[in-house]
Amino acid sequence: MLQGFHAEVKRLLLLLAMASIIGLLIDQLAITLLLAVAWYTGWNLWQMLRLSIWLQGKRKSQPPESTGLWGEVFDAIYHLQRRQKREKNNLQAVINRVQETTSALKDGVILLDWRGQLDWWNPAAQRLLGFYNSDQGQSVVNFIRDPRFVDHFEQGDYSEPLDIPSPRFPDKRLQFQITRFGKNERLIVVRDITQIFHLEQMRKDFVANVSHELRTPLTVISGYLETMADNNTTPAWSRPFEQMQQQSKRMSLLINDLIMLSKLETTDTGFNQKRLELGPLLQTIKAEAMVLASDKQQTITLDMTPELSVVGTEKELHSAFSNLVINAVKYTPEQGAIAMRLWRSGPHIYFSVTDNGAGFESKHIPHLTERFYRVDASRNSKTGGTGLGLAIVKHVLLRHDAELQIHSEVGKGSVFTCILPANDGRTGLRPRDK
Ligand code: ADP
Repeated sequence: MLQGFHAEVKRLLLLLAMASIIGLLIDQLAITLLLAVAWYTGWNLWQMLRLSIWLQGKRKSQPPESTGLWGEVFDAIYHLQRRQKREKNNLQAVINRVQETTSALKDGVILLDWRGQLDWWNPAAQRLLGFYNSDQGQSVVNFIRDPRFVDHFEQGDYSEPLDIPSPRFPDKRLQFQITRFGKNERLIVVRDITQIFHLEQMRKDFVANVSHELRTPLTVISGYLETMADNNTTPAWSRPFEQMQQQSKRMSLLINDLIMLSKLETTDTGFNQKRLELGPLLQTIKAEAMVLASDKQQTITLDMTPELSVVGTEKELHSAFSNLVINAVKYTPEQGAIAMRLWRSGPHIYFSVTDNGAGFESKHIPHLTERFYRVDASRNSKTGGTGLGLAIVKHVLLRHDAELQIHSEVGKGSVFTCILPANDGRTGLRPRDK
């Protein structure tokens, strides 16, 4: 650019020099200088006009020919335009490629703008949800009207996907995973999970049916065992009868837990839920646990803020809380101390069970609520647990919008805390499909 500038200055100086010589020769210095400046200004205006015409015209055409500074300006703008065009083409190629790949996906992909309106979607989303090209710019909740989706979409916590029946084909099951990107835009990935859903349903039905079918024969066997044990007069048979009764009792506990888990999995959340005062419930649980604890001379204390209530199902919460207290009794040695506590802090109600028992390492915590997970399998056979207690606790709490926190130290004891929403903010119960 500097070269062009120098050439331009030279050109101007040459023009003024020639005008001065001619002016001196014809004795009209002022007029010739004025004419020279006028010519130079006119020429510059002409270049500007050409530039303006070229910029407004077709961008593809070559820039006008010129020399000096103007020639360089024309060339620089031309190169800038070409570079921009190349970058635009590259970007377009990337966009086309992304669109081609997402079009080939079996999962639906939907892009929403910051207002939640449809911006772009792939053919799979069109097939699964029935969009038309003319639907661009429409709000997504006009198409997926299921209250569970609307709720999930508006409440903005997309850490978990949402499974609901397809709005277009009611026998299909869809999973929606929403992700935020850019300036509050959202990407929705829609998966057809009908097959997985049916398999899962089959598993749940199978466990529920088998558990129910096993209950009756087991009741008959236990009944006869009891009669036979009562009438037994042979000392050699005393121990076998005792063991058979122990095992049939264990099997019946296992079946009851399996039935409970199946019910939790198959009934809608919100079923049978009502406002429930926790004080009397905890008193009952304490009394039940005291019977077990007295065998081991353990103490159970209950410390609670009175009149705290939640919205929930009494049977489910009884089962969850009682599982925690009974675990504390089971896994705390003789003369141990177990403390039940209930209090409120902000919008939450806390129920904790603290024991000074064996405790466990923190690496077990993420697995404790898995079915049949045991910290110490050998110790467990003595305690007679089913391995399903904490899985039940987890399911019950999930159904009450609550969570379980676990702390433990080996040799010092454990604290299991349930955090439940206090019921006063809730206006209604939301049945959720699980
Ligand atoms: P189980 O029927 O075996 O007690 P749970 O699901 O209730 O099954 O508990 C899973 C495992 O967690 C138990 O086997 C035990 O190892 C451990 N556990 C649960 N509660 C406690 C506790 N209070 N103290 C120590 N370990 C515990």
